Amino acid sequence: MIECNLFPHDKIRPIQDELIDNVKKAVKNGLNLVAHAPTGLGKTAASISPALEYARENNKTIFFLTSRHTQHKIAIDTLKEIKRKHDLDLLATDIIGKKHMCVVPGINLLHPSEFSEFCKSQREEGNCAFYSMTKKSGKATVYAKKVLGELKKMGTPSVEEIIETSKKNNLCAYEVAVMLSQNSDVIIADYNYIFNRNIREGFLTKIEKLPEDLIIIVDEAHNLPNRVKDMATHRISNILMKRALKEASKYQNEEIADQLIHIENTIRKMSEDLNRENKEKKVSKEDFIIEIEKEYEYDELIASLEFFSSKVLEEEKKSSISSIVTFLEAWRGPDHGFLRMIELKDGLREPLINLSYKCLDPSVITSEIINQSHSTILMSGTLKPINMYSELLGVSQPIEKEFQSPFPEDNRINLIIPKTTTKFQQRSEAQYKNIAQECVKVTDNVPGNSIIFFPSYALLDQIKKYFVELNQKTIFTEIRNMDGETKQELLDNFKKYEKEGSVLLAVVSGSFGEGIDLPGDLLKCVVIVGLPLSTPDLETKTLIDYFDKKFSKGWEYGYTAPAINKVMQNAGRCIRSEKDRGIVVYLDERYAWSNYNKYLPNDKNTLVTQFYEEKIKQFFLK
Ligand code: SF4
Repeated sequence: MIECNLFPHDKIRPIQDELIDNVKKAVKNGLNLVAHAPTGLGKTAASISPALEYARENNKTIFFLTSRHTQHKIAIDTLKEIKRKHDLDLLATDIIGKKHMCVVPGINLLHPSEFSEFCKSQREEGNCAFYSMTKKSGKATVYAKKVLGELKKMGTPSVEEIIETSKKNNLCAYEVAVMLSQNSDVIIADYNYIFNRNIREGFLTKIEKLPEDLIIIVDEAHNLPNRVKDMATHRISNILMKRALKEASKYQNEEIADQLIHIENTIRKMSEDLNRENKEKKVSKEDFIIEIEKEYEYDELIASLEFFSSKVLEEEKKSSISSIVTFLEAWRGPDHGFLRMIELKDGLREPLINLSYKCLDPSVITSEIINQSHSTILMSGTLKPINMYSELLGVSQPIEKEFQSPFPEDNRINLIIPKTTTKFQQRSEAQYKNIAQECVKVTDNVPGNSIIFFPSYALLDQIKKYFVELNQKTIFTEIRNMDGETKQELLDNFKKYEKEGSVLLAVVSGSFGEGIDLPGDLLKCVVIVGLPLSTPDLETKTLIDYFDKKFSKGWEYGYTAPAINKVMQNAGRCIRSEKDRGIVVYLDERYAWSNYNKYLPNDKNTLVTQFYEEKIKQFFLK
């Protein structure tokens, strides 16, 4: 029986003990662990408890990182329980992005890059009253220390409690959280705090820690590669240039306006040979810099725009010019692992021209800190193939472990129905109608709610036309760019159909694809229509080529696996607890092909079948 002295619950469950054992091994030996650990295993407690025991004995600090703010709660609740059960003098800090903690009214209108400039200028000019109340000459004020003492007494305050307490006392919540972090055993934060180099270096300096002092636990680590790539990707467009020009003319600064016009002309010149047939091309670092330097010295141009935008931000909360500065600085970055491209897209009033510096290889960002840390634990319910994640994130000599699902196998059946396809060459009205028919045959036999996931909004619309004609149940439909409130409202209404049964039509990578919990009888069936493969555009082709050269696995790492990972996230919505029963339908002939089938569950309850209606009925009769 495995021992875990700081475990928050009375019993350690089977399989959970294996994860605890592996976390112990990793932290004890200073190694990294990459773990495929399915939902229901109790990952948070199984990772934090053994890591905390080691960290307290060896003067290490745990960073528990999540991809969404909503996931902080389970970590804080686990720590509260550890503190209570073991009567521990434990301190944890829950921190989110500075902008989201800022108590200055109206701050949510700003873009993150504009916000950091705004905050910097407010502090430097002594214009932020909250900051002045919190710090004087870089040190905590007596008043802030008193409030900090109150938060320390709480031991494990949530970020909401930190913000509320700071607001009540007119303090900067972010600075309060940073000061609290200095003595914390555990810091619960977003990925940015560790995987954005600038943020990490600034934060670690402030809390006086080195990378080797850290045990990093990354929750939902399947999100990390794309999240990191997005962080390191930068673009400017002709539309952004227009907004920037308006800003310059508002302040009647002709010199800045001339500089912006030159940048815009450069982008237009670089895109001259693009058209409807030939919409994108690679460009080089020099293509852009040489053209810019025909009029201005590149570094001086950045300095001039930066100076101007910092003045704008003293007056206003927004500056498009500051976003241009961020891009120009990023453009000086390395070529290895990145793609520089220019593309022409349809715009509302005029064609959109994007000049982008895109990160292709997340390991150029993640590898250094993962391997410098004392130990990094990467875990997720969908981290397969495990070795792919180790390679993509550049983890040296990892312990790689796949844990079994703790849920009874017989609570779920997986049906692969190879009767239709969304393959581009075979798309037609007849195909859409067939897909709609198969969907109805499935959902009609489900005594409860179903979600059907489509690869795109366009396909959802095409197939929905036929689906509404054939289907008898109430239909809910996801729409593009749903805000949090609308999404919640839709989910609340959907839940009301638990007995009667309704169908939610959604998109694989949309609002409902991951991160929603519909336990018990709230969701009985998930249908995944087609495969959400990327468009074979310049970026995808370059990615395939890049991973082919690096790992000889271009198609798998650059094309197949990312699509399958999204599919597995969707499938995971169906069974959220030990008692849930449900079916997952993979509706496309390609799911029966070995190159895709090898990623799907491989057990006695996974069937490739054309005749499934009776099976669904029988399953729900049990
Ligand atoms: S110093 Fe704090 S309160 Fe002031 S703008 Fe920055 S984050 Fe907001």
